[in-house]
Amino acid sequence: MKILVCVKRVIDYNVRIQVRPDGTGVETANVKMSMNPFDEIAVEQAVQLKESGWADEILAVSIGTSQSQEVLRHALALGADRGILVRHDDALEPLAVAKMLAAIARDENPDLIILGKQAIDDDCGQTGQMLAALLGVPQATFASHIDVGDGRARVVREVDGGLETIEVTLPAVVTTDLRLNEPRYASLPNIMKAKRKPISETDAATLGVDAAPRLRVVSTLAPTSRKPGRRVSSIDELVAALRDEAGVL
Ligand code: AMP
Repeated sequence: MKILVCVKRVIDYNVRIQVRPDGTGVETANVKMSMNPFDEIAVEQAVQLKESGWADEILAVSIGTSQSQEVLRHALALGADRGILVRHDDALEPLAVAKMLAAIARDENPDLIILGKQAIDDDCGQTGQMLAALLGVPQATFASHIDVGDGRARVVREVDGGLETIEVTLPAVVTTDLRLNEPRYASLPNIMKAKRKPISETDAATLGVDAAPRLRVVSTLAPTSRKPGRRVSSIDELVAALRDEAGVL
């Protein structure tokens, strides 16, 4: 069985995001970048399925600039077998990403495709759903548990009302939620081994995808800063502050 896992290079979740002075987006120059956290969970799931004996190959795919090689190397160090980098230097929208992933999936015929439920930079949460639609395969989004076997996957989904269990036939697209697993750290020997694993390169034109943006970002604003809070020493002082300063009573 083959698993295709999608990994995006994003601003590290610990970085304090700065909006560019001209409002055209957020500052990415000299900023620490990492693998999207939900994609680390996707890689971990793929590795666990390989360790369980169900899968025998894990292919990691990233779309972005040449620096996206870094997240592919990280995926290889975590246990993926090979990588594909789709070189694309311009802004990307989920539909273009989904079309490129679909082109690769048609070529590679994976039994399972695992993506993050969302990329923490654009928070779109659309790519997995679009990919499933383009491929005409079932989707199980926001997975917090996956059991595979017998040409099917049983997936527990995190939904507003609690947990929903669904069964999908394979091949299928699954997107990961936070509670699916705890990603491992890459060991030093595995980081060294990953340097010898193959990464091939392609691009949108070779995949036959028109990746031109359909959206224009009109402006990007930082959240307005909040007034600092203050400690009160009694309930009376709290009530007075809520009435006189905040005007909520
Ligand atoms: P989004 O729909 O942008 O929130 O992204 C959802 C998921 O799609 C991510 O967690 C990734 O697994 C995958 N994805 C999105 N963009 C890329 C990309 N440029 N390269 C690889 N995977 C991506």
